[in-house]
Amino acid sequence: MKVKEARKISNIIIITGLAIILMGYIYKPFVIIGSIVFIYGFIVNILYNRCPGCGKYFDRNTGDYCRYCGKKIDD
Ligand SMILES: [Zn+2]
Repeated sequence: MKVKEARKISNIIIITGLAIILMGYIYKPFVIIGSIVFIYGFIVNILYNRCPGCGKYFDRNTGDYCRYCGKKIDD
């Protein structure tokens, strides 16, 4: 998976998870389901939001270049 793709997908999963958590106001078990989805989004982020060059985790670095090795993200 490409880094930008992974960021997009993990963001969608995290937002979906939050939306499901909010539905917990209507039906409590949604809080648990939403939390699982939310955590899954984070796992995707941690696994794939990494430099293809040096493998360092990007965290909140959203630039086009790796701040550790200078490699362009998504060649
Ligand atoms: Zn790098």
